[in-house]
Amino acid sequence: MLESLRRIVQEVNAAPNLRDVLNIIVARVRSTMDTEVCSVYLRNEQDVYVLMATEGLKQEAIGKVKLARGEGLVGLVASREEPLNLDEADSHPKYQYFPETGEEVYSSFLGVPIIHHRKVLGVLVVQQKHKRRFDEGEEAFLVTMSAQLAGVIAHAEATGGLAAIGQKAEARFMGVAGAPGVAIGSAVVVSPLADLNAVPVQINSDPEEELAYFSDSLAAVRQDIEQLSRQLEAHLNKEERILFDAYLGMLDDASIAGEVAEKIRAGYSAQYAWSQVILEHVAVFSRMEDPYLRERASDVRDLGSRVLAYLQQNLAEEKTYPERTILVGEELTASNLGEVPVDRLAGIVSQRGSSNSHIAILARSLGIPTVMGAVDLPFTHLEGHDMVVDGYRGAVYSDPSQRVRDHYEAILTEDKQLVASLESIKELPCETIDHRRVALWVNTGLVADAMISIERGAEGVGLYRTEIPFMLRDRFPSEEEQRQVYREQLATFAPRPVTMRTLDIGGDKSLPYFPISEDNPFLGWRGIRVTLDHPEIFLAQVRAMLKASEGFDNLRIMLPMVSNVPELEVALMLIYRAYDELLEEGYKVKMPPVGVMIEVPAAVYQVREFAERVDFLSVGSNDLTQYLLAVDRNNPRVADLYHSLHPAVLKALASIAKDAKEQDTPVSICGELAGDPAAAMLLVGMGYDTLSMNATNLLKVKSVIRAVSAQQIQHLLQEVMTLADADSVNRRLEDAFRRAGLSRVMRFDSESALIH
Ligand code: PEP
Ligand code: MG
Repeated sequence: MLESLRRIVQEVNAAPNLRDVLNIIVARVRSTMDTEVCSVYLRNEQDVYVLMATEGLKQEAIGKVKLARGEGLVGLVASREEPLNLDEADSHPKYQYFPETGEEVYSSFLGVPIIHHRKVLGVLVVQQKHKRRFDEGEEAFLVTMSAQLAGVIAHAEATGGLAAIGQKAEARFMGVAGAPGVAIGSAVVVSPLADLNAVPVQINSDPEEELAYFSDSLAAVRQDIEQLSRQLEAHLNKEERILFDAYLGMLDDASIAGEVAEKIRAGYSAQYAWSQVILEHVAVFSRMEDPYLRERASDVRDLGSRVLAYLQQNLAEEKTYPERTILVGEELTASNLGEVPVDRLAGIVSQRGSSNSHIAILARSLGIPTVMGAVDLPFTHLEGHDMVVDGYRGAVYSDPSQRVRDHYEAILTEDKQLVASLESIKELPCETIDHRRVALWVNTGLVADAMISIERGAEGVGLYRTEIPFMLRDRFPSEEEQRQVYREQLATFAPRPVTMRTLDIGGDKSLPYFPISEDNPFLGWRGIRVTLDHPEIFLAQVRAMLKASEGFDNLRIMLPMVSNVPELEVALMLIYRAYDELLEEGYKVKMPPVGVMIEVPAAVYQVREFAERVDFLSVGSNDLTQYLLAVDRNNPRVADLYHSLHPAVLKALASIAKDAKEQDTPVSICGELAGDPAAAMLLVGMGYDTLSMNATNLLKVKSVIRAVSAQQIQHLLQEVMTLADADSVNRRLEDAFRRAGLSRVMRFDSESALIH
């Protein structure tokens, strides 16, 4: 059973469109379960379940049989959200007869709901003439099948409208709000090279030229393989030599080349045509009964990627970015952002990741509206399409209608007005009406966000993510290269303090030249754990920071992901060693304040011990939230469980501030929470004197703090701390903002209501 299940899912996954997906499901499930009928009903926008595909019932009934929720047996399965297994369907009180189906002859009925993200998408039904209850094993198989297929069906439904070349119709995809704001522009798809599944649908401008390009590339790959095979001849065994021959045979295969040529003549680019033909062949091999032939699927895929790499060779240089680029991709990285001129980057959409993924954090500091985790986004089909990115609600529209455009143009105008109105407070201090002063610092990492920060009146840098310059290279930067980058950062902000965090890689931040592959990366080799295992990297970095600070003396050093005192002590010892070395070498550096991040639950309970050993503490609420709630900050599937204002998070934050105060150790917060105007008030109430945030939110936070008194904040905090769940906290804060006339700054849901 497991094998059949795997094969069906694999085949369904490779199907090009919803109709094929459904046809494969009904055919394969019927034959695997050896039943006479298998049908799929899908819910339409009116909440009605429509027969979409069947094997066994009359084909004329497709699209005609419709049942509302709760109506008939299918409607009953949908409304109860559980299987219904009957030996005599027509004697059930809910049974409804549709003459066009010819189903009167089938007595037994087993229906299971198809559920995706808690929503019933449809119902999968098998029927048989013979009067019997389906046994437990059959029921369990159908339930398993349905659970596995739900995601594929949802994806095929979402992408259904976009598959045809040149076809343009508005489609909306939901994801997770990544960075606030609205962007209207045109899509540029970023796809990893040589990835057959990620080739954007592109149209060629001259089929003959494209055909010539295709056959040149094939010839080049053939030469490569022949040369490689000659070089290795002496070292290859017979089987391996056969593999090379098989590759060459595939390249000469008239049918593959012929199919590709046909698609090129139909208007597609050589890259897209090739990827589609190869994927079709991979699918055919994967379905084969013979295990040896099935294994050949991976050879075809491998060869396909090699040729694709050739076909894509010139793409990087050719890339042009329209004036309002919406960068779209499966999983975007900091270097993808770096490639687009900042003044052209209007919006970002990523199929993977969530609101606290590092790419979203970067986008927020650059003020680029972003949607993350748009899991159903058919990103390869969107190259050049018009798009709207709603970074407030996590919605993306491709080929938006005029109505949707008008709606978002209006929001853009309002946003511009809000930004303009905040300009006036740029030079004013951040203090409450009754003069409680709060320092507003920024988080930086890129050159561009440093400039924005100064313009917005940042008083210091609470977190400089040093891993970002590391991520933008193809090898570790040398000590001198680092010194130059850090010096620029220190110079930009001097005399304001700049808190440089030592290298924090691992989790969702990997260096292309130092890959870390782990099953559980957020609980693995991350932050200080990596750098303590590589003191040479740590020492070079600290030395570079100290040298860079010469003459400015505005450096602070901060340590990430510390979970115990010994880690802290070893790191401090290394910092002192670097400092002593530099003094000996004649540098006139001052020992900077050293701080530690409180971002794992263990650290919350060791604030006192940490405070005794360092000069300052800074809370990394992004990680602290993920670890306290056990919710991966990068996983869109659990994004709606990542509650920054969960009562447990608030209690931890309050306890950190209290313990730090008792030790007289300054405590700041540099997680994204600090830049949320509502949360910022609570943090001030808890005793955080320094809030470090992305530059985009700086003035919004200031405008809110300047509008309230310390006493009002205390009242609100006391009330909020008694609430039992994050939704209640959010509602209470929303209410407080409305009453204080501040909701404009927050853009609550009702104001940017989604339009369909
Ligand atoms: C945090 O975890 O809150 C933090 C500021 O660090 P990062 O987001 O870079 O992990
Ligand atoms: Mg962190």
